[in-house]
Amino acid sequence: MIDHRRLGRELELFVSDPLAGAGLPIWLPAGAAARHAVEEYVRDLERRSGYRHVYSPPLGKRELFELSGHLGYFEADMFPPMRLSADDEFVLRPALCPHHALVFRARGRSYRELPLRIAELGGMYRAERSGVLGGLSRVRAISLNDAHNFCALDQVGDEVREILRLIGEAHAALGVRPAGFRLSLRGPGEKYVGDDAQWARAEELLRAALDGVDFVAAPGEAAFYGPKIDIQVVDAAGRESTISTVQLDFDKPERFDLSYTAADGSRQRPVMVHRSLVGSMERLFAYLIEVHEGAFPVWYAPVQLVLLPVDDGQAEAAQALARRALDAGLRVEVDHAGSLGARVRDASRRRVPYAGVIGAREAAAGAVALRLRDGRSLPPMPASEVLALFDRLVATHSAALLP
Ligand SMILES: [Zn+2]
Repeated sequence: MIDHRRLGRELELFVSDPLAGAGLPIWLPAGAAARHAVEEYVRDLERRSGYRHVYSPPLGKRELFELSGHLGYFEADMFPPMRLSADDEFVLRPALCPHHALVFRARGRSYRELPLRIAELGGMYRAERSGVLGGLSRVRAISLNDAHNFCALDQVGDEVREILRLIGEAHAALGVRPAGFRLSLRGPGEKYVGDDAQWARAEELLRAALDGVDFVAAPGEAAFYGPKIDIQVVDAAGRESTISTVQLDFDKPERFDLSYTAADGSRQRPVMVHRSLVGSMERLFAYLIEVHEGAFPVWYAPVQLVLLPVDDGQAEAAQALARRALDAGLRVEVDHAGSLGARVRDASRRRVPYAGVIGAREAAAGAVALRLRDGRSLPPMPASEVLALFDRLVATHSAALLP
């Protein structure tokens, strides 16, 4: 049975230590290297798609979350406030939206700036009960790939469709295979803000954006402030969870009194689109570790190439090539310890995509013989060709080990 917790331990991707606290995993160097590559990819995809990145703190004053409605509608999922003094209480944020609303209203806004896409890979906290926590799939400290796109009402349809396209692009690069689309709607009860007309309008816009897409409607699964499109995945144990999401919100712009100057000079309220292309780093990696069985595509493999000098005579040649590969941006290691066979097996056990064997003949010729983690091997190649091969695989986010 594939389990990301077991693979995470074997491949030294992350560790959960009871002393740190349940649901508060620590990313080890190998896991952090893979996550860093994924974060850089997502940030670059967003940058090329017109997003502007910000940083905001993972906690804020109690009043901020009273204004946002989180303390009214979401308090059960939040850690209790921290009191510095009688009139100074702080809250670990359960979402980034309130800070991004403050980014929008940091100065006057014009219709010319819309859609204004504010993005951040930011920390947030949920007081999950200890019984539901496990590995990276349910955690209390969450690093969310988040953005809030402030739009005029007539821009919402195109904006949501473009977000769905970006989600598809990111999924293809990462190897995410969605199990389906879900339109999450309001259910019965008092846990939702906003009036019926707002909810109906938002639902209509999302249904229009899903034109031609197979989806299921899920009453009761909406956010407390609006309906959403969720893109579902299924883990190795058959459990369904949401990775990517697009949500419409008419409520927060009202609560934060957000407005922009329209072309005719009038003040208009923007619509807030909450979206995540790949979800939280924790849940994403819980999924990716399982779906790839730890063998990540080359572009986000923790170590991409391990160099194996056959004996001490090639140590210098191996170090020189490792230096060139590092300078070219690769994650590379040199392994001297033990027999060649044991080192090849160890590289493949660690799911390193390529082991580069350097014997006397290769060292003399400035060449490397590559062994792939799937068992294939290539005839010796000049070092420059090896670097060009990696360049191609990384630049195209290829899932295959050979172009
Ligand atoms: Zn949000």
